[in-house]
Amino acid sequence: MIKNIAIVGATHGNEFTGLYLAKYFLKNPNLLKRDSFDTKVIIANPKAVKLTKRYVDRDLNRSFNIKDLHDESLSSYEDYVAKVLNAKLGPKGSKNPKCDFILDLHTTTANMGLSIVVSSDDKLTWEAIYYLCQIEPNLKVFRWLGDEENSFLDSITKSGFAIEVGAVPQGVLRADLFTKTKQLIYHLLDFFEKYNKNEISQDKKSLIIYDHVELVDYPRDERGEIIAMVHPNRQDRDFELINRGDPMFLGFDEREFLYEKQEPLYGVFINEAAYYEKGFAMCLSEKKEVEI
Ligand SMILES: [Zn+2]
Repeated sequence: MIKNIAIVGATHGNEFTGLYLAKYFLKNPNLLKRDSFDTKVIIANPKAVKLTKRYVDRDLNRSFNIKDLHDESLSSYEDYVAKVLNAKLGPKGSKNPKCDFILDLHTTTANMGLSIVVSSDDKLTWEAIYYLCQIEPNLKVFRWLGDEENSFLDSITKSGFAIEVGAVPQGVLRADLFTKTKQLIYHLLDFFEKYNKNEISQDKKSLIIYDHVELVDYPRDERGEIIAMVHPNRQDRDFELINRGDPMFLGFDEREFLYEKQEPLYGVFINEAAYYEKGFAMCLSEKKEVEI
């Protein structure tokens, strides 16, 4: 039985879709009211919102590993926020968390359309994803094992995932993506109602997903400076297959950098603005069918 869920916006302060959806829901709580469970709405990083920045001191969505949550010596703004959210929604690892499911709302500058980024392997999470994919056939599912293990905000609870929509610049609203995200949230609430009424079939199901393989950095010089950009033939082509010999990057001197791996893989988060500082230009993933 699902009793409490949380919808979190502005985990990154410059991702406006989640921020304005959260504000809209806080103003109109009846839109989220359902018979069998309660929904909390949270604006996660208000200080970053004020600055229209991803974060103040450190990336909040990498601040939830259990070690950091228990480390009292960590005192940055996001370390503080992470501890507050962990107390409010978790605590993480608890058998009796305050919240059963976290939906974390994000946007991306990559052309990922409407997608789900999931790290959890919990059954309820995957039942919810399967349900949404039946309603939204264009919804893509990317399973990310993460650049920093198990430290996403949605890892506070056993069940949860992030919605990523794009392409949209940071600090910008796009009506089409806002509306699609809102509709997906309503579908998710319907799922919980059905789940609580035992109307979700427990039969084995299968789903096509994109499974994280590796992160790819930009080509760099000996000083670590970027010397090339995502290739025009690669730009905006998230969830498309990349074969050996396909162009990946275009140098400032117009030199082409090609994909050299034998194994064809699918690009995801291609040219995401927030990942320049993390040192990756895209993720590579394999497309596979998983059983739920
Ligand atoms: Zn984000």
